[in-house]
Amino acid sequence: MVDSDGTTTIIGPCATTCPDGLARQCRDVGPSHRSEPPPRDPSPSSTIATMELVFDLWIRSATVVDGSGAEPRRASVGVRNGRIDVIEPDGDDRGPSSSSAAITLDATGMVLAPGFIDVHNHSDVAPLIEPTMPSTIRQGVTTVVVGNCGMSPFPASSAAELASWGGGTDGDPPAEELAFDSFGAYLERIATARPTVHVAALIGHGSVRELAMGQERRAPTPVELETMRGIVAEAMDAGAVGLSTGLIYAPGMYASTGEIVALAEEAASAGGIYASHIRGEGAHVFRAVDEAIEIGHRANIPVHISHLKCESSHAWGRAEELVARVHSAGATGDQYPYAAWSSVLRSLLPPWAPVGELRSLLTDPAMERRLVAAIEQGEDEEFQSSVDGVGWERIVIEGTADRSNDGLDVAAIARRRGIEPVEACLELLIADPETTCTGHAMHEDDVRAIRADPEIMVASDGVATSPRGGEAATPVHPRTYGTFPRVLGPFVRDGTLTLQAAVRAMTSLPADRFGLSGRGRISGGAWADLVLFDPAVITDRATYQQPHAFPDGIEAVVVEGDLAWRRGTDTIERSGRVLRRRG
Ligand SMILES: [Zn+2]
Repeated sequence: MVDSDGTTTIIGPCATTCPDGLARQCRDVGPSHRSEPPPRDPSPSSTIATMELVFDLWIRSATVVDGSGAEPRRASVGVRNGRIDVIEPDGDDRGPSSSSAAITLDATGMVLAPGFIDVHNHSDVAPLIEPTMPSTIRQGVTTVVVGNCGMSPFPASSAAELASWGGGTDGDPPAEELAFDSFGAYLERIATARPTVHVAALIGHGSVRELAMGQERRAPTPVELETMRGIVAEAMDAGAVGLSTGLIYAPGMYASTGEIVALAEEAASAGGIYASHIRGEGAHVFRAVDEAIEIGHRANIPVHISHLKCESSHAWGRAEELVARVHSAGATGDQYPYAAWSSVLRSLLPPWAPVGELRSLLTDPAMERRLVAAIEQGEDEEFQSSVDGVGWERIVIEGTADRSNDGLDVAAIARRRGIEPVEACLELLIADPETTCTGHAMHEDDVRAIRADPEIMVASDGVATSPRGGEAATPVHPRTYGTFPRVLGPFVRDGTLTLQAAVRAMTSLPADRFGLSGRGRISGGAWADLVLFDPAVITDRATYQQPHAFPDGIEAVVVEGDLAWRRGTDTIERSGRVLRRRG
């Protein structure tokens, strides 16, 4: 509705005002702020007409969960020039403040939290494909950290690698447009795209290694190591927030601990963080965590372990021990709240069997036997099997060239073809090296035990996408749409953790660890990245079968004071920026 003074008011809890939802009732009400300032009453007799607009946004009578972990409290929040200007307790805002805002949101019954920070995200080039990033903003996320798992768009080494960053759908930018001369040029391109959320970026070790030495399975020469150090140092200078590794992926998996230490030193001297997809997350998970911790000690860099999990029956039941090990070393970690991982199917291959060499390897029966044994049982010290302790029926094909296999588990595909599951896996990889899959490899009890720990951050591991257009046909993990509402809804309501602990794990905890100053808290002077949600309603709706589903319960998302999205509208404002590490 439009108030008498021309300002826009969005009515609060829908149940009491519009049973069909605030959206329909309030759609297209009044002008959107900034792009089109609200009309003023020209009459000199009007007291309101002469009143200056004090706030860009006034959020009235919210239950403020401020990101610090403090108890929720009732307050109204005024936003000006992109920052939180006033926090007025008890919702007592009957003074001039509420009527002097361009936009007022009545937040009675709603929780107001800092915008969520997704520290493990793969939307590296998503802003160049669809800058509104609907699956991200509509979860309440206002900042993503990209460049994870050792993969960053700069440096890219080949056309094939560039193409792998594209969404693979009509309308994607051509691969050459995703080629960047430097890390700084990449960040600049993202800034120019003006995404809907802020983007901070890590430099990926695998990408750096590939540029310096291709897919070589050996230690770098001193010259190659110097080259790699130089690329990392330059990226840090350009504003990268740290270095990432993906030690189950080629070529990152070929690196020794010492090689990573050398590159982490470059990130450390610039004040960055080391974020790692560790070398094993099942039978080898403790050894892999210890390697990350060792890298932290030797390079003197803060360590962050990505998507903590206990994968395979070899690790089930050890979640508390796992997070204790992480904490005892002063490391941090994040988690997506699901019992299945999602990755490329080639992540099942041992380091010595790159997907491009499968055909030739399989011509040698002895090699074939060794490969089958490695995939199904792993190799001591060297390689962890993703199938052992899991089973082929829990490895489900997400997307592959022959779409008739999508959604089927590898055991079922093998039965169809009258062959062994491992053979079906290899056939799928030879037919399409980019085949993706989900591995239902974690135990729900461990997922909950990790999530119950208030010091573990929430992160999606997703790539921003949309249920409309070509992207709707792309198979994705439900975490892409559901991660944050799933924690705030089902996990909070069943008592796994408190609402304030959940919000902290999504806001101030990641902001502080990744050096995103001025974000992650509702406090005076902080950037006004905010999310308003209904705590009784909020939930994820995305499933493995139907992942392209927005969550319920998110009411509005604010990015630096701009109302980026609100329930019932399709419009998404783009107010995100590139967040560079400050030296
Ligand atoms: Zn990963």
